[in-house]
This record gives sequence, C-alpha cells and structure tokens, in this order.
Amino acid sequence: MEKTFIANMSESGNDFKKLPKSAREFTCFLDLIIEDTLKNLPVNFTPTYIRCNKRGCYGIISTKIDFDENAIEWKCSVCPTGGAITNLF
Ligand SMILES: [Zn+2]
Repeated sequence: MEKTFIANMSESGNDFKKLPKSAREFTCFLDLIIEDTLKNLPVNFTPTYIRCNKRGCYGIISTKIDFDENAIEWKCSVCPTGGAITNLF
C-alpha cells in the first residue's frame, strides 16, 4: 500500500517542543522539502538533494509545486513514500 503523508501547514502553529521526536524529525524533513521546492519552483517532479526519510531507503525525494492547489507534492525515487503539503501560503 502506498504511504502518503498529508501535511496541512495551517495547523503548524502548535508548540514544536511538545511534539514527539519522530514528529519533530518529520517536520524538519518537510521543512527541507518546502525550502528546496520554493527555491526552484519545479512544476514537474524534479529530484532534490533530500534523501528519503524511510529507514533503510536510499531513494531521493522529488518534488513539484502546484500553484492552483497551493501545495507541494513529493515522492521517493525508490519506495512508495510520498505526500502533499497543503495550504502553503
Ligand atoms: Zn524511499
């Protein structure tokens, strides 16, 4: 089954320090994705320098931005891990 993460940025005002470690690491991973995507603004899936966050996977994350949906989509080049980050702006 494909593993898809949906991150709604309008809910990101929570206290970062109260999150469990795995959630903080995942938030940092999403920050990298957002930063790289907003720097390059790819409209088609484009590889980044970011490694997949799945343990044991050595895939590279590709991202694209969807201006109509106000979202970033991302996926691994190797495993089925991927997701969308919505409500960016
Ligand atoms: Zn992967």
